[in-house]
Amino acid sequence: MFLTSVEKTIRALRRQIESFGISEELRGYNWDKPPVEPVNDVKIAISDLNGFCPTKRDIFLKYVLKEKAEPNQYMLKGLAVHRIIRETIITLKKAIYSGCDSGEQIINEYFNNSIPYRVCESLDIDCRNICKEFSKLYRYIVLQVAAKVDEVRSKYPDVDAENVVGLILPPVVERKIDGSLIGLSKSLSLDIFTPYNIIIDFKSGYERFEHMLSLSGYALALEADDEVDVNFGLLIYIKTGERVQFNQKAFLIGDELRREFLEVRDEIAELIESGSDPGKPPECPRYCCYYGVCNEGSC
Ligand code: SF4
Repeated sequence: MFLTSVEKTIRALRRQIESFGISEELRGYNWDKPPVEPVNDVKIAISDLNGFCPTKRDIFLKYVLKEKAEPNQYMLKGLAVHRIIRETIITLKKAIYSGCDSGEQIINEYFNNSIPYRVCESLDIDCRNICKEFSKLYRYIVLQVAAKVDEVRSKYPDVDAENVVGLILPPVVERKIDGSLIGLSKSLSLDIFTPYNIIIDFKSGYERFEHMLSLSGYALALEADDEVDVNFGLLIYIKTGERVQFNQKAFLIGDELRREFLEVRDEIAELIESGSDPGKPPECPRYCCYYGVCNEGSC
């Protein structure tokens, strides 16, 4: 589940590791030495790496002026997608443990469910079309899991529920990580950590380089917290609409990305410590969650 057909890509990335390697000094478990050691005591959120403000004034507003961000529709949609995936996986795990042992049974009992509507309600998303899109996402996951259950049962006829869950569903959804050793928040939440040294993040918007940076941040935080090597990142871009689409982007979390993550982390930490206003860019994106503060308020 979520990792279908990614094996070939991972094989290619393994070859990249063999050719280029990953420098030990850039592993998260070297958090007590530069360049991984934080430049000051500031702790930032992973989402700070993904901001839309060209001058990073969003960071100044959030940490220095303590302004509240106004979540835009993209942020709410992203939150909803994460919650639906999490709740659906947990629900289906429970279903398998409580005796649902065929794809047909899973579809009969779980194809229709209120999870997407409950999530919309909890986030105050009051748009029938969006909730319908989320129902499609929910059903897409149910169908994938149902098909996998049948596949596993036909391949290994004597498996029990524990084996089925272990073979088709990710072991940990929203894995908590203490990122404080590398200057990140104490309570990071990674979408999925797999046993193959791959970390996974779901995205509901368009592809951005910053998404690779934030996944690199999770990798270093995990290396620092667990003293393990994390080599690969997988971004899964989810499109909902007429059809549900999952587009995967797998990459090696190599030296270049690690250095870039550390540079941006330091830049943000220094900006917060200095307390100075970096000013506005010539034009602000309308969807920036501080648009009202910078362009209609008093700041
Ligand atoms: S509204 Fe403009 S200046 Fe303010 S944070 Fe957003 S992009 Fe930056």
